[in-house]
Amino acid sequence: MPRKLAAGNWKMNGLRSSLVEIQKLAERHSDTSVDVLICPPATLIEACRGLLFDIGGQDCHTAQSGAHTGDISAEMLSDAGATYVLTGHSERRTDHGETNATVAAKSQAAYDAGLTAVICIGETLAEREDGTTLDVIDQQLAQSVPDTATADNTVIAYEPVWAIGTGKVPSSDQIAEVHSHIRARMLDRFADGADMRLLYGGSVKGSNAAEIFSIANVDGALVGGASLKADDFSAIINALE
Ligand code: 13P
Repeated sequence: MPRKLAAGNWKMNGLRSSLVEIQKLAERHSDTSVDVLICPPATLIEACRGLLFDIGGQDCHTAQSGAHTGDISAEMLSDAGATYVLTGHSERRTDHGETNATVAAKSQAAYDAGLTAVICIGETLAEREDGTTLDVIDQQLAQSVPDTATADNTVIAYEPVWAIGTGKVPSSDQIAEVHSHIRARMLDRFADGADMRLLYGGSVKGSNAAEIFSIANVDGALVGGASLKADDFSAIINALE
């Protein structure tokens, strides 16, 4: 059984004053039986050193260094104390035109820097309504996940775009269908595919977490809004423990 992971993506939220939320969380979950990952804005990564949990970046460049103004490399994230990085979040794909090929290159850059990549995939509402969800997932997995992925260096996060920040959550059957499909694809491709962690993301909160975590092949969650406050994220960690 893969080890469970509760991951928080703060997106473009959080100032130094927000670090108190991680401190509160650490006090409550000092002996937690699950892995907890916080992905704060890059400006806060260094300040999170020593705060108990794994820390991740929200994006990295494909290159190790160079003339890329405003970008951050995987090696820089690692240097600042991160051990994970999100790649291919739908907001990056939409806001920055990231293709599957870009996501694969960023994930490879993460591996090269010793980081674990949390590779995000998921269908839009139009794709769900067209009945092409599993085709989209197949294409994203085939083209965004490098051949060098392992259960140690990769986590897959299934985040339906229409469920992100909307309060809408797929039915348990819909989540189960996609997660078992992802598991099958990972088993086809990777010797340790059974151990690769598969997270669900999109409007996860304390009140729906237990039900989501009871679904087969859901090894945790990637949480946006409900990861910003210790009380909210704590309820999700409790549901996973
Ligand atoms: P919400 O939990 O706010 O819906 O965001 C999900 C997400 O995009 C996490 O990466």
